[in-house]
Amino acid sequence: MTLYTIEQLDDQDPLAAKRALFDLPEDVIYLDGNSLGALPHASIQRVQEVVTHQWGNDLIGSWNKHGWIDLPQKTGDKIASLLGAGPGQVIVCDSISVNLYKLLITALEMQPGRATVVSEQGNFPTDLYMVQGVQALLGEKRCNLLTVAADSIEHALTEDVAVLMLTHINFRSGQLHDMQRLTRLAHAKGILVIWDLAHSAGAVPLNLDDCGVDFAVGCGYKYLNGGPGAPAFLYAATRHHEKINQPLAGWMGHANPFAFSQDYQPAPGIKQFLAGTPSIIAMAALDAALDVFNDIDMTTVREKSVALTQLFLQLKQQHTDLDELILCSPEDTSQRGSQLSFCHDDAYAICQALIDNGVVPDFRAPDIVRFGFTPLYLSFADIANAVEILQKVMHEKRYQKDKYKQRATVT
Ligand SMILES: *Cc1c(COP(=O)(O)O)cnc(C)c1O
Repeated sequence: MTLYTIEQLDDQDPLAAKRALFDLPEDVIYLDGNSLGALPHASIQRVQEVVTHQWGNDLIGSWNKHGWIDLPQKTGDKIASLLGAGPGQVIVCDSISVNLYKLLITALEMQPGRATVVSEQGNFPTDLYMVQGVQALLGEKRCNLLTVAADSIEHALTEDVAVLMLTHINFRSGQLHDMQRLTRLAHAKGILVIWDLAHSAGAVPLNLDDCGVDFAVGCGYKYLNGGPGAPAFLYAATRHHEKINQPLAGWMGHANPFAFSQDYQPAPGIKQFLAGTPSIIAMAALDAALDVFNDIDMTTVREKSVALTQLFLQLKQQHTDLDELILCSPEDTSQRGSQLSFCHDDAYAICQALIDNGVVPDFRAPDIVRFGFTPLYLSFADIANAVEILQKVMHEKRYQKDKYKQRATVT
């Protein structure tokens, strides 16, 4: 591929104008939007407005006047449109971990006589920790974690299973599950399904309603660009709303919080999943960030994501220096999310050397260099430049410097 055709790719890119909506440093090629999305200009303005005008001037009246009290649902409905979900089924609150805890206990209680929670070996640790915590709380007779390899999931779906809890796109490899098929197979055995969409929301088209998904969670700070520690989201299908007893029964999920009644009575609908007072500043940053998705559909985002990853692989193939980076994501684009992972014994040092040279990926233990592809703010030229820098780092073995080997706390 010549520079000319890369220019052409950028000229024809329907999402090219989106980059201007982000406040990105000039000298960085940011391939880590799957860990922390970039900063949208709209979030800067909104946070300023919320802090100085709403909090500063209007003080407590802002809960009503500026709609703070409805923000978890309003922002949830914006996210719903990216998930193929109708309104009133998504709420923004807490973290994925906390939301999984609520959903696991909710779902287990809906499945009397069943205790097994099936998940995948190599799932994101917090997802498995949450099941382990629920198991310690309720006892094995009511919650029993079974982790199986990806190719054994289908086989593990028996009538003893209460819940299938899977991450749609694996954080290490980028392997993508067939949501429709697995949800259907689980339902055929009476199993409820919880999907973790941390690496899916804002990255790939989703159809939660059409797939008949029961519950889902996802991340505000990855592809949705909501900022560090942005609140997460929780999806619960409308058909379950009447049957739910979520365990973190807090006042914000009460039918009438300002009645200050001594007895808990859940709010109708999705609002019952709220527990305590939401962080309005953080949620406002996320709410504003979501507007970058306003006039585009996720199919366009996905098409560009596939084209960016394919260009990366194609350019990588032209350099024998790069052969020692072994692709550990699926080659088939329909089987992977918006990332490429490569294995190498010096993966950590390679990441550090790349960062020093203006390309930001991340490292995932034990040996993965992970590149995230965010079509809203990456160009085809960025990918070509990133591969060129990667080639230099590998060819000159720049990563072998001692300074690149010292592990930081966050990788
Ligand atoms: C990033 C990520 C999380 C993060 O969980 P939090 O509790 O929101 O910090 C959870 N699950 C998966 C699969 C992730 O990739």
